[in-house]
Amino acid sequence: MNRFVRAGAASLIVVFASQASGQPLPEVHLIGTGGTISGGAGGPLNAGDLRAALPGLDSVASVTTEDFVRIGSSRMHPELQFQLAERIAAVFAERPGLAGVVVTHGTDSLEETAFLLDLVLPSGRPVVFAAAQRPPRYEDSDGPRNLLDAIRVAASERSRDLGVLVVLNGQIHAAREVKKTHSIALHAFASPDTGPIGAVDEGTVLLFTTPARRLHLPATGVEPAVELVRLTAGGGASSIRAAAQAGARGLVVEVFGRGNAPPPVAEAVDAAIQAGAVVVFVTRTGAGRVVLSDAQQERGILSGGDLDGLKARILLTVALGAGRTAGEIGAAFSRLSGAG
Ligand code: ASP
Repeated sequence: MNRFVRAGAASLIVVFASQASGQPLPEVHLIGTGGTISGGAGGPLNAGDLRAALPGLDSVASVTTEDFVRIGSSRMHPELQFQLAERIAAVFAERPGLAGVVVTHGTDSLEETAFLLDLVLPSGRPVVFAAAQRPPRYEDSDGPRNLLDAIRVAASERSRDLGVLVVLNGQIHAAREVKKTHSIALHAFASPDTGPIGAVDEGTVLLFTTPARRLHLPATGVEPAVELVRLTAGGGASSIRAAAQAGARGLVVEVFGRGNAPPPVAEAVDAAIQAGAVVVFVTRTGAGRVVLSDAQQERGILSGGDLDGLKARILLTVALGAGRTAGEIGAAFSRLSGAG
């Protein structure tokens, strides 16, 4: 059989598979950005290779591919994350029949990219992140299963209006809730406050709940000069001063407990606010809200609610890029904590 005839036979099989269910196969667009799922930094596998390595895909979705970048995700940054969001918006605009988009990404900064996209992209058709803890050269790599699961989620009508989703280890997580909690384990991704919103069980997409804490923040750009500083016993003030002196427009400080910071930190924070930075306190405990005293609020400090430092920094990056006022930014944090 020559190449042309073989190609014809392959498309006949696809048409047959889609007609067996009486429905055309859903269209999913796969965008590669690199990471362990593609073989590590500068990895050998592009998005087309990843698609080719998925047995059974032809009965799940019709998948087109593109490579956005191929980097380890420790090299991600807000401008690139925003460009990825713009690219996804353009793909949806060009292809009204597309069911959803899957993004393959390194696990290291995945929760930040997913959350930035969740904020800036309008709700509607799903954007689903897939990643792997074990590279493709391992026989027991988790990449192919995670990617096929993500494609199933992106292809499903039921995934609409849930915001950006993250699919690993058979679980579906909301972008606002998910965190990488382990450097190597397959169960590294978790949503500690809410649990996963669903699962993919032997190919069946199961939805348990819908994400309640979401916010759409349309933006035409991001403000990358936003730093995150974690307080320690006796430490943190000099990092805050250094960030302000380096020109930070925003500063997220992981403070003690419910919102406590010792005098040297308070002085550094006041200096940063006077220099024009928006300062947000979140708790370094890992869970629970920061509730500020009247005096702290009068000094211009904002509460990040119960967002963690990584997510609070992303929100501040987007909100400043969108030209939001401090009052509007405070309200956005409150909304994402579940109020209003
Ligand atoms: N270094 C990888 C990254 O790009 C780790 C991974 O993908 O799991 O984040």
